[in-house]
Amino acid sequence: MTTAATPSILDTLGIWDDPRVVQSSDATDDHVLVENPATGEPIAGVRLQSSAELDETTTKSVEAFKAWRVVPAPERGQVVRAIGDAYREYLEPLGELIAMEMGKIRAEGIGEVQEVVDIADFAVGLSRQLHGITMPSERAQHIMKEQYLPLGPVGVITAFNFPCAVWGWNAMLAAVCGDSLVWKPSLLAPLTAIATNRLAQQVAAEAGHPDLFGLIIGADDEVGEPMIADRRYPLISATGSCRMGRRVGAVVAGRLGKTLLELGGNNAIIVEPDADLDLALKSIVFGSVGTCGQRCTSTRRAIIHESIADDFIAKIATAYKSVVDNKRIGDPLDESTLMGPLIHEESVLAFENAIKAATEQGGEVLAGGKRLDPGNLANEAIRGGHYVEPTLIRMPAGTHLPIALDETFAPILYATTYSTLDEAIALQNAVDQGLSSAIFTGSVRAMGRFLDPSGAGSDCGLAYVNLGTSGAEIGGAFGGEKDTGGGRESGSDAWKAYMRRQTCTMHFGDSFALAQGIRFE
Ligand code: NAD
Repeated sequence: MTTAATPSILDTLGIWDDPRVVQSSDATDDHVLVENPATGEPIAGVRLQSSAELDETTTKSVEAFKAWRVVPAPERGQVVRAIGDAYREYLEPLGELIAMEMGKIRAEGIGEVQEVVDIADFAVGLSRQLHGITMPSERAQHIMKEQYLPLGPVGVITAFNFPCAVWGWNAMLAAVCGDSLVWKPSLLAPLTAIATNRLAQQVAAEAGHPDLFGLIIGADDEVGEPMIADRRYPLISATGSCRMGRRVGAVVAGRLGKTLLELGGNNAIIVEPDADLDLALKSIVFGSVGTCGQRCTSTRRAIIHESIADDFIAKIATAYKSVVDNKRIGDPLDESTLMGPLIHEESVLAFENAIKAATEQGGEVLAGGKRLDPGNLANEAIRGGHYVEPTLIRMPAGTHLPIALDETFAPILYATTYSTLDEAIALQNAVDQGLSSAIFTGSVRAMGRFLDPSGAGSDCGLAYVNLGTSGAEIGGAFGGEKDTGGGRESGSDAWKAYMRRQTCTMHFGDSFALAQGIRFE
């Protein structure tokens, strides 16, 4: 039971040692009261920090950067290796804290910490591979090469739904690249941020760099806005809604800084008639119901070939109803739970408003559609949580309801049908966001058209064949196009965002040689 587990998880992770944290009964107007979304009960209070504290943290981060950047990259990698080991050690309690504070099920919470372990391992290898290239000079006795240099303190802003992993993707790479960080987490998940940052900070402090990982917890107008406007952060990496990204993008661009934006998604799965329908069904249900529809990569739309649509959509509805009827919605820390709560009451209202709009716009609710009846909870003692039914809405053939073009952060799946693959791809691309996309097919041709190297296929940053939209491996660059912001984090060459590139030309002759054959004598 969540509440019984609460004190021990917080104790194990040293949460109470943080001077910002108080018992919920001691919280005042200066604190944010952190609630368990599964029960509606308070967990703790966290003091909101001021812009003056941000300034102090930034100053320390600048100094930490100067000391850290001179540490050779492979040695930085060894510190990151030790940080990864700290997350290995605390995998379970940290995963459980995520489940308790954010509401995703325990297995997903632990999986989120595992992502930090994985990206730490990746970053350790990378610490010996931060290489530029050499190129031939057009001038005799000249050498040209590129080198990548540490960038500076990175401001990291994170969303509530991945309160640990998204910081890890940024922090592990930035650290091997020679950057310091200041993290401004969501006020909906500050305890996970405190526990996560603490583990890294302790390892960095033992290595002689106590201010490498800064953490500032405060309101958007008090600390968020000053952070994004501060020229001491050459890079702001921000994850969250498109609304937030538009604001952060504009402010940072206004001071000619760099941004790495990871914003909202509106992800679709196309199901071709020759697909493995069992596989497609499982992937759609996990993608739309998992994390209660609160992943940036959650499946929000199903685009199904008209020849199989009626049967297939009926199967999705049956699966959704069985999640409710079999009482698989409830406490995220209970092993039998498949779907936890929404993060707070506003999300329940957004869910209800979206369903009302969908119905008014001509959508047909085939499953769910309501706040969960507490009688359907696995454990009625947690009836104060923010539970809803997984919801399936059928749209008219070959089109979207206007509401389906928005990202509602809730377990709502909109289904439509198509007759040709061109039509399906056009539907999949017809939203402003461009994060994750998938097709289920047995046909090499359909796969090729979806992944068409000309760009005529999926317009998303992530394109999957015969697997769902939700989730990603850390080895690939993660991120999306269009209103998703264009940023790339995690694997591949995403590390380059955390460094500055320098083209170096060295002349070892004695003639005065200009490029482009220019003579100046
Ligand atoms: P949100 O936009 O409300 O908040 C995200 C973060 O931005 C928070 O830390 C918030 O305090 C901060 N913020 C907001 N306004 C700010 C400002 N003016 N200055 C500085 N900071 C500011 O998002 P949320 O509700 O926490 O998260 C859900 C959203 O995040 C969804 O849209 C989801 O798709 C998106 N998301 C995207 C990815 C991705 O990788 N693309 C990953 C996770 C979540």
